[in-house]
Amino acid sequence: LVDAREWQGGLRVRTDTLLAVSALDGRIVCAEPYSAAREADLRTRFVFPAEGVTVLAPTQFLVPGFVDTHCHAPQFQFAGAGTDRDLMIWLQTYTFPAEKRMADVKLAQHVYARLVHAALSSGTTTAFYYGTIHLEATQALADACAQQGQRGFVGKVNMDQHSMDGYVESTEESLRDTETFIQYVKSLPRHALDAPKSPALVQPVVTPRFIPTCSPALLQGLGDLARKHDVWIQSHASESSDQVAFVLSLLPELGAAKPGADEHEQAGLQNGRCTGIFDHFGLLSNKCMMAHGTFLTPAEWNVFRARGTSIAHCPLSNYFCSDKYLKVKPLVSNGNKVGLGSDVAGGYALSILQNIRHAVVTSKVHTNEITTWPDTAVHLSAKGASHSKPSAEHAEPLGRPLSPEVLSALEAAKKASDNTVNGSTLSYADAFWLATAGGAEAAGLGHELGRFDAGFLFDAQLIDVAPVDERTGLVVSSQLSLFETDSLQDVVQKWMHLGDDRHVRSVFVQGRQVKGAEIPLPDELRKASVLPAALQSLRRNSAASGAVVPVASASAVAAAAGGATVAASAAQ
Ligand SMILES: [Zn+2]
Repeated sequence: LVDAREWQGGLRVRTDTLLAVSALDGRIVCAEPYSAAREADLRTRFVFPAEGVTVLAPTQFLVPGFVDTHCHAPQFQFAGAGTDRDLMIWLQTYTFPAEKRMADVKLAQHVYARLVHAALSSGTTTAFYYGTIHLEATQALADACAQQGQRGFVGKVNMDQHSMDGYVESTEESLRDTETFIQYVKSLPRHALDAPKSPALVQPVVTPRFIPTCSPALLQGLGDLARKHDVWIQSHASESSDQVAFVLSLLPELGAAKPGADEHEQAGLQNGRCTGIFDHFGLLSNKCMMAHGTFLTPAEWNVFRARGTSIAHCPLSNYFCSDKYLKVKPLVSNGNKVGLGSDVAGGYALSILQNIRHAVVTSKVHTNEITTWPDTAVHLSAKGASHSKPSAEHAEPLGRPLSPEVLSALEAAKKASDNTVNGSTLSYADAFWLATAGGAEAAGLGHELGRFDAGFLFDAQLIDVAPVDERTGLVVSSQLSLFETDSLQDVVQKWMHLGDDRHVRSVFVQGRQVKGAEIPLPDELRKASVLPAALQSLRRNSAASGAVVPVASASAVAAAAGGATVAASAAQ
């Protein structure tokens, strides 16, 4: 078992452990060192499955399911493309047209079924989803989560201004449809298991897209709805310089602290800023997930902390759509609740494993910017280290091994540098915590998910670091290679940096197997990927003339598109 229970607590790796999950409510009954006596004790109190106890192979281990705190479901259509524009232009060029198409409920059902399947396949057991402004299509998104068994926080997007022609709603429609949506999601079955004490599998989320697309009347109405139905809120806060400037131009005189506000509110609530405006409308609560926050000030962090509002850290999309990274380690160390988000498709990777890597790299960029190595360069000498600039005459002779004294001096210099901002580099274990226990805490489920201890819900992934193709008998991934000298921590770290969905053997949500078992899916999802029109025309030309596209190159195009079925068709 591998989990991370606490922020900066490192990884907990347990071997020879007996894990038992109750089939009645999907909760962990026991996660303890294995002993025959403990197994015998469990057998007296529970009925075991007919197949008996599952013993994991040496290359297999369990990790908690990932929590994606920010994902735009309709944008899955163009995930991996459209990365060449800044936020406000990107919305008009790629995003709004893709979302507008969701007016077609059949298309929405198709896209959302594939999205939820893809997310579960890569180990995401909980996701915060934005739908579109369309009521029925967003109901289809909630249905997809319920049918495939993913824990979903689903929101119908609200926009009554500053969108595009044909993709905007009136304030009244927006509020009416949001309330209908909340009632619809609350009427869905709570869970496949009859476990009344567990959180509902799918929850409705009030989703003002962001301040520019919502009039003050809409923001007010949404704040009222969230309070009335006691539901979650999600939106975007202070994410890019063009967005921050737009908000300031729209509501320059709204958001300042009210009379009687405390010291933190006085400092953190300002006119024309996302924090102050959301707070004014009651949209910063302890059931609230705000994405990005790259332009939030430390004073605003304190308001978020006081309100209990969470931040979805989307490291990859911050590079594409924001013009700043989030100082995530100082933010978490400040006591703020933070999880990781894919932000599909501002971030191209749905996989939270990829976002773990991006979070670490982003924090390294922060470290490199604040580290003052040139001025305090550690000069290595034969006797130890000194904090002066190296010079030619005192240069370290080549080929001499570093002494323990030198290594510890380097470590101390690095620590001193990090401490200038309470440290800034995330370890892979910190990032894994953000993706699991941290994300669960940000989603209000810190006491339910994210670790393997008795009483917690079993939301988990069974990882196999050396999966074998049953037809060929060969290991399917050559990138992740193991060697005899690898420690247990090495194996886990290699998976974290080099693994992908091929290494996710099964996935469980509240004890129910949702990958690697028979979950009802539309047949089309089981087949090869849909053929884009651009590739269909290649196939037509090839068939008509027999020579316009030679078979070899048509196959190469098809192979690049990722489907054996496609290649066979092209060769016809
Ligand atoms: Zn977003």
